[in-house]
Amino acid sequence: MKNWWISVSICMAAAGLSACNNVQSTTDTKVQDKPSAKAVAVAPAPLPAPKLDSSATSVFNRKQIPILCYHQIRPYKPDDSPTAKPYIVPPDVFKDQMKALHDSGYQTILPDQLRNYLLSGEELPEKSVLISFDDGCDEQFDVTKEVLDPYKMKAAYFIMTVAINRPNYMKAEQIKALSDEGHSIGLHTWDHNNVKKYQGEDWVKQIEKPKTALEKIIGKPVEHFAYPFGLWNPEAIPQLKTRGMKSAFILSTTRDQNDPMYTIRRIIVPGTWTGTQLLTRMQSSF
Ligand SMILES: [Zn+2]
Repeated sequence: MKNWWISVSICMAAAGLSACNNVQSTTDTKVQDKPSAKAVAVAPAPLPAPKLDSSATSVFNRKQIPILCYHQIRPYKPDDSPTAKPYIVPPDVFKDQMKALHDSGYQTILPDQLRNYLLSGEELPEKSVLISFDDGCDEQFDVTKEVLDPYKMKAAYFIMTVAINRPNYMKAEQIKALSDEGHSIGLHTWDHNNVKKYQGEDWVKQIEKPKTALEKIIGKPVEHFAYPFGLWNPEAIPQLKTRGMKSAFILSTTRDQNDPMYTIRRIIVPGTWTGTQLLTRMQSSF
């Protein structure tokens, strides 16, 4: 029973540095993320344009929507390590961040709306934001009731299914309730192992079975995925497509040129940002 938790703890610590760096280098990432700018900057002679299919072209032609990634919403503890802190947002800071979004006119959207916008130009609110929570920690349910509901905000929850009904994680009925209330439930693997290491049956264990289990809980299709630690490789994308995933979310690194729908960027919001700082970072990162 303890294996999955040890794995998560170790990986969370290992991922802390890179996630933290990602947050701080979002401006650089933005520049690198433009395929055309990159080609012009480094090409000594004209190169053939990257061969993109129509959906990839349409995605790259549309302005990115700010997407926020949260993990734990709780007070800091004395033994929280520096690498863990970016994943923790104290409740009063979270309230300030959500108030800033609301007061400046942001409206929340969900992964289905984002997909329709990116692939076919479906209209979104002028100031759209997608709020996502990873892992399925139980306080995510409480802050939804206390902070998001009064603002009529909706969010996307990417669930690590091994933890459902475990202490400190959401129960199945809470996940179902979120879904029934119009939030989006997505998958975050079975036990948070790095997607880049999957072979053969790992895809069944980490994607197929937990997808079916989540669908049974909420009574709806589960079609959106978040890579643990934001780590992915091009080999993972056809595996996700085959298994019915319509989009996949990374962190603030560069999107895949052929499959931007499976490498949608998010920023981790740390507890050190005020609401005002969050608004500034959203504008510079997307
Ligand atoms: Zn995670």
